[in-house]
Amino acid sequence: RHYLARIERLDASLNCFVTVAADQALDAARRADQRLAAGDAGPLTGIPIAHKDILCTDGLKTSCGSRMLDNFVAPYDATVVERLAQAGAVVLGKTNMDEFAMGSSNETSFYGPVRNPWATDRVPGGSSGGSAAAVAARLCAAATGTDTGGSIRQPAAFCGITGLKPTYGRVSRWGLIAFASSLDQAGPMARTAADAAALLTAMSGFDPRDSTSAEVPVPDYGADLDADLTGVRIGLPDEYFGAGLDAGVAAAVETALDEYRRLGATLHRISLPNSPLSVPVYYVVAPAECSSNLARYDGVRFGHRCADPRDLVDLYERSRAEGFGAEVKRRIMIGTYVLSAGYYDAYYLKAQQIRRLIADDFRRAFEQVDVIAGPTTPSPAFPLGAKLDDPVAMYLNDIYTIAANLAGLPALSIPIAPANGLPVGLQLIGHHFDEARLLNLAHRLQ
Ligand code: GLN
Repeated sequence: RHYLARIERLDASLNCFVTVAADQALDAARRADQRLAAGDAGPLTGIPIAHKDILCTDGLKTSCGSRMLDNFVAPYDATVVERLAQAGAVVLGKTNMDEFAMGSSNETSFYGPVRNPWATDRVPGGSSGGSAAAVAARLCAAATGTDTGGSIRQPAAFCGITGLKPTYGRVSRWGLIAFASSLDQAGPMARTAADAAALLTAMSGFDPRDSTSAEVPVPDYGADLDADLTGVRIGLPDEYFGAGLDAGVAAAVETALDEYRRLGATLHRISLPNSPLSVPVYYVVAPAECSSNLARYDGVRFGHRCADPRDLVDLYERSRAEGFGAEVKRRIMIGTYVLSAGYYDAYYLKAQQIRRLIADDFRRAFEQVDVIAGPTTPSPAFPLGAKLDDPVAMYLNDIYTIAANLAGLPALSIPIAPANGLPVGLQLIGHHFDEARLLNLAHRLQ
């Protein structure tokens, strides 16, 4: 009731929620009370959370931030939703997001932008901006997000919370509406590393319904949060501290790194020479996959259908023209272009080759260091509207986050010292399946 009252009071101006499920939440809370009274509590019993509106929820609208799915109610729960429910979490509602998770500011949502609770004339980041702002404004205790190129970490940084993108394959993608299937991962967005660890433990693990889900045992991610950092080697990529980095962000990162040194870690300069290519590579690979994944929205089986179609082609054309927003259309056009017979080798194949080089850079770096640290974003949250007319400026927001997705590595963002009163995030990138170490380092700084 506390959280529902805050949503009622504050969300009209913040716009974090697409759907508030008050009645279901109160029912679930009553069941949680009964479980607690019966001594049958799970690790998250009664914890009020919110799900990004890209995760399918049985009986509750799943819009993906799009007019296309404004009328879509999934007949099943995503694995992530199911596992958090089994752990006892109570779902308050579904959070706003960039349309089909394409964006870095939450401004591409069919439901309008989310506002940053720290400065309501600024963006919360995206695409999981509703989840990030809801956690920051204390409209829920924690939330889920998804990250294809930065969509958990960048909004976590802009809103001053902790967000973790797991190793590719750590968390099942079943029931997570696909954007770019080789990059998408769901993860926790929470106030602290300890909270994120509790959610990650509940949501991770093998799922036979996702063929890319990994059969790797799930540790208790909360077990080693306090581990000593003596001798932990932190790598600082030259490429993450160069031109284009805001001075306030750089100073906050330096302060955080000093603290790690004081805690016994050692700092090492490293190089990820191909990382400047990660944004162009991503903007070939992600649109290619999205153009294929979004082909299913044809107005026939589910989603938006235009009125009075003349024939089948008219049904396809008008349903898609009406259902998708401008950014989604731009991505579909780029994707079909780079996959077309005449350009496949020059763009898509080349991008896949460079993707391998980017992954190899990390493999070499992890022979020298245990984790990689740097800023999550080049600047703090920018004003609403500031980058709307300049897609490339918008895309460059993800310059430090995208490489981890291309290489399938786990990465998180934690809040550090603010710059000009705005939150700043420190990004930590780890070896495959080394989430526990990232959470340990994050926790020691909190
Ligand atoms: N901002 C990036 C994009 O627009 C990443 C989005 C994401 O991680 N879902 O594609």
